[in-house]
Amino acid sequence: MRHVAIVGSGPAGYYTAEALQKKLGDDVRVDIIDRLPVPYGLIRFGVAPDHQSIKAVSRRYEGVALSDSVRFVGNVNVGPDISIAELLDLYDTVVLATGAPNDRALTIPGADLPGVIGSAAFVGWYNGHPDFADLDPPLSGASAAIIGNGNVALDVARILAKTGAEFGGSDIVGHALTALQDSNIRHISILGRRGPHQIAMTPKELGELGHLANAAPRVDPTDFPPEGDDALLEPGMRKSVTHLRNFAADPVAKPKTIDFDFFAMPIAIEGDGRAERVVIERTRLDDALRSVGTGETYTIDASLVVTCIGYQTPPIEGVPYEHGRGRFANDEGRILPHLYCVGWARRGPTGTIGTNRPDGYDVAEQIASEPAVPPHPGREALDRLLAARNANIVTFRDWQRIEAAEIANARAGAPREKFTDIAAMLAALDR
Ligand SMILES: Cc1cc2nc3c(=O)[nH]c(=O)nc-3n(C[C@H](O)[C@H](O)[C@H](O)COP(=O)(O)OP(=O)(O)OC[C@H]3O[C@@H](n4cnc5c(N)ncnc54)[C@H](O)[C@@H]3O)c2cc1C
Repeated sequence: MRHVAIVGSGPAGYYTAEALQKKLGDDVRVDIIDRLPVPYGLIRFGVAPDHQSIKAVSRRYEGVALSDSVRFVGNVNVGPDISIAELLDLYDTVVLATGAPNDRALTIPGADLPGVIGSAAFVGWYNGHPDFADLDPPLSGASAAIIGNGNVALDVARILAKTGAEFGGSDIVGHALTALQDSNIRHISILGRRGPHQIAMTPKELGELGHLANAAPRVDPTDFPPEGDDALLEPGMRKSVTHLRNFAADPVAKPKTIDFDFFAMPIAIEGDGRAERVVIERTRLDDALRSVGTGETYTIDASLVVTCIGYQTPPIEGVPYEHGRGRFANDEGRILPHLYCVGWARRGPTGTIGTNRPDGYDVAEQIASEPAVPPHPGREALDRLLAARNANIVTFRDWQRIEAAEIANARAGAPREKFTDIAAMLAALDR
């Protein structure tokens, strides 16, 4: 029997458990440990609340979670509650699937002013992550700037632009819905250092901006390279660029605007004790398609600045770390003997939910071919150690009770009203 601990219950953690189960069948016991009492990582706390069909992938993980060989151990923070060295004493193999929950820092003057918020925090706020429920982002000004040219920037722009009615059927948390309905933000600028051919935005998410009730995208037609160059793009990118070209060719007047500000490099954020404006340097592309400052600067108003410029994995004591790339140091997922990583903790914050599947299957393959080691005690020993530390473990059945309470609390038309603090989640278990 092999005992495996997976730290993190997001897609990478569950795909790894699924792969181990398929590969080793009854010969493996997997504990999926998460610091929160609720599973699924960014499927619950990252994927946009108005994209419920994407969140539905978690149903697939339920099948894995409810099998005898796999267990969810929620509300246990690896690091403070139990160390990696302790886990390696208890399990034959430990897999880190801790994701990349920390915002990459914006390092320009004024980036620390109130009103400048990383997307992990902003997205966590509207998705009810307990770490960010109290964020209270400033929405009373007229203008917001979003820094970054990926899908997260699009999510943030769309959420800021939607009307209350457009959140029907979503699971946006009540505190965010109320705040967004009262928001004064009318002008949203999405800032990208390079041009329309260098975006990392997918067609579906871009296309959605063309169908908002009260807001319309605006793109400067002079930002595009010659139309013939689109033929050189891969098909998905070509579709995205076609959306941008359509927005540029056919501007629509609506009360709120979403401006795509290309060739725009923020160089400072200014304001009297809080963010009020962003100073931007105009850029151009060099021969290697890198952005180069032109020296020309201009300023836009923004009392809310959301940075969507990537994420990092927090280091864990005792685990080698690659500082430049903000992830665990690893070779094809292998960190040290019997210690692996998968998902965003392995690759950094790129790709979709499905990109994490091959990671998990590959690492499961490596684990299965590891030479046998003297048996480790596994889950019973974990339970004894955590009980001695008065840990309040949440099981998968407990999570299902939390979920049932969230469904029961839903406002009309919504799938659930999430608990936004850990105490409320545990109180729903009434124990
Ligand atoms: C804003 C946003 C929107 C996205 N939207 C989409 C989308 O629409 N479609 C799509 O395909 N992909 C989307 N993605 C990408 C997708 O969410 C990721 O590819 C995926 O979640 C990465 O999986 P992961 O398991 O590596 O990390 P995560 O999903 O982040 O899971 C990590 C888990 O580890 C736990 N954890 C962390 N540290 C510890 C610790 N010390 N101890 C115990 N547990 C710990 C966390 O609580 C979490 O549950 C989005 C990402 C973001 C940021």
